[in-house]
Amino acid sequence: MTAPVRGRRRTARAAAHRRARPCPTCGHTPIAAAEAIEQRHDLQVVWLTETPTAPGHLTTRRFCAECQPRGAVYPIVCRICADGPIVTGPLAEQAAAGELPPVVADALTADGWRQARDGDGWVCPRCARPAG
Ligand SMILES: [Zn+2]
Ligand SMILES: [Zn+2]
Repeated sequence: MTAPVRGRRRTARAAAHRRARPCPTCGHTPIAAAEAIEQRHDLQVVWLTETPTAPGHLTTRRFCAECQPRGAVYPIVCRICADGPIVTGPLAEQAAAGELPPVVADALTADGWRQARDGDGWVCPRCARPAG
């Protein structure tokens, strides 16, 4: 019962130099602290793109500022918290034209998203879940 817990505390100092997470897509690793914060923020955004090898299926990707897709993008915005993934590629063009592609709608629903009651927009899983 008296054995001291050792080893764990020593690593606390390393936290001062926040570990910069490399981008999972292009491997870009921020050097400056400010850039590291920005990149962490960028990597929280989920991008939905159609799987090139499997049309009709979505791939979830994460991008840093360096490798973000430059083409068409369509953000899915939760009506309550304004959070949500970004659709990219031809699916985004379709969504921007006014018709959310069924593959995207299906993926959102599978993730726990719900269509707003008045049919205008979506509510994310966190906000759709009844409180408590
Ligand atoms: Zn990247
Ligand atoms: Zn929400």
